Amino acid sequence: MPRQNWAGNVRYAARRFHRPTAVDELRRLVADSERIRAVGSGHSFNRLGDSRGDLVTLAGLPPEITIDRDRRTVTVAAGLRYGDVATRLHAEGYALANLASLPHISVAGAIATGTHGSGVANGNLATAVAALELVTADGELLRVDRDTDGDTFAGMVVSLGALGVVTRVTLDLLPAFDVRQYVQLDLPRAQVDAALGSAYSVSLFTDWRSPRIGQVWRKQRAEQPAPPPGWLGTTAADTPRHPVPGMPAENCTAQLGASGPWHERLPHFRLGFTPSSGDELQSEYHVPRAVAAEALAALDPVAHLIAPVLQICELRTVAADQLWLSPNHGRDSLAIHFTWIDDADAVLPVLAAVEERLAPFGPRPHWGKVFGMAPAEVAATYPRHADFAALLTRLDPTGTFRTDLLDHHFPR
Ligand SMILES: Cc1cc2nc3c(=O)[nH]c(=O)nc-3n(C[C@H](O)[C@H](O)[C@H](O)COP(=O)(O)OP(=O)(O)OC[C@H]3O[C@@H](n4cnc5c(N)ncnc54)[C@H](O)[C@@H]3O)c2cc1C
Repeated sequence: MPRQNWAGNVRYAARRFHRPTAVDELRRLVADSERIRAVGSGHSFNRLGDSRGDLVTLAGLPPEITIDRDRRTVTVAAGLRYGDVATRLHAEGYALANLASLPHISVAGAIATGTHGSGVANGNLATAVAALELVTADGELLRVDRDTDGDTFAGMVVSLGALGVVTRVTLDLLPAFDVRQYVQLDLPRAQVDAALGSAYSVSLFTDWRSPRIGQVWRKQRAEQPAPPPGWLGTTAADTPRHPVPGMPAENCTAQLGASGPWHERLPHFRLGFTPSSGDELQSEYHVPRAVAAEALAALDPVAHLIAPVLQICELRTVAADQLWLSPNHGRDSLAIHFTWIDDADAVLPVLAAVEERLAPFGPRPHWGKVFGMAPAEVAATYPRHADFAALLTRLDPTGTFRTDLLDHHFPR
């Protein structure tokens, strides 16, 4: 098990690392631990999941994938990667509504932070969760279901990993579908909203060096017509692209309108490509989609600071939901994502400037990425923040799953 996150900017402080091979072994481990925390595939960029006690990976548990055709759900071992689940689902004629840009991310880790893809009608990945099973601080196995546990369930899905070790996740299914991906170049800023709402899942990429948006990645249902010539003032890319200009496109999912299965088009990157470690940092802020144009305009005065430390900025949309700690709670959202260069000293002052400019729009930072907003500012954007704090105290009274960053945002 790696001793650091994927990006290498967090070296885990944990004293011991565990890899149980059965849920009962995990239950004993948790019950006997003063401090323990689950780690997924390590794709977060901050210390939210880092424990001073022990870390446990679920990678050794049986890789269960059980489809319930009547309920149209699948129950999966929580440590599995989305890409592996998706491949199996597609073979059985099913799909998930959406996926993140990288298929290598674990299911439990993704839903714990409200990880999302794009699409004005698509909720984040946690909104597909119908039930959860987790090992709580006392070593008991707790199952919560959307249909029977109502509001509490809504508090437990985007959990920040703080309520227990999630062992199984039940996800809603759709019939499998095909997608075509088109890349369009040089979108005028005035067309951002129209572009984002134009297809099933749309991502815009900008380097903040030009008033136009460099690339539009349009992932459309295969039956939808191709964008016509001159669509929204863009030109069609005639070769495959990488989101970062100049980077090789062979690791990216198929483009140029080639029809293919949902799980081979909705992510930006192919499952078969192995991203060993990333020379990058990431930050992301969700603002209400209704103020998207104003929020982007507010960043214009700091574009000259952003551009030199940026690899690429991605704009996506996420539909509103009711999950207490979801960055999309109660708000249709624009997600403004920054892939920075791997130089924290250079990036952090720029991040502070970005946060200051976005502050009037009630930004909610991605829980798994680098951010510096004060806890009170973050809390103020979440109407159910205090309810989550109470849930934390009830389910984990002795702080078994607490970490320093969690304490910072949810003081005891
Ligand atoms: C290249 C790259 C691309 C990305 N693309 C996207 C994207 O498209 N959209 C997006 O929103 N984010 C994206 N992210 C961010 C990423 O999805 C989140 O940081 C996510 O939380 C990482 O999941 P993980 O499995 O790697 O978990 P980790 O980073 O290992 O852990 C994340 C959190 O989940 C908790 N956790 C993990 N497993 C469990 C468990 N079994 N039970 C309870 N808690 C658990 C941990 O304690 C921790 O708090 C990307 C990151 C990278 C590096």
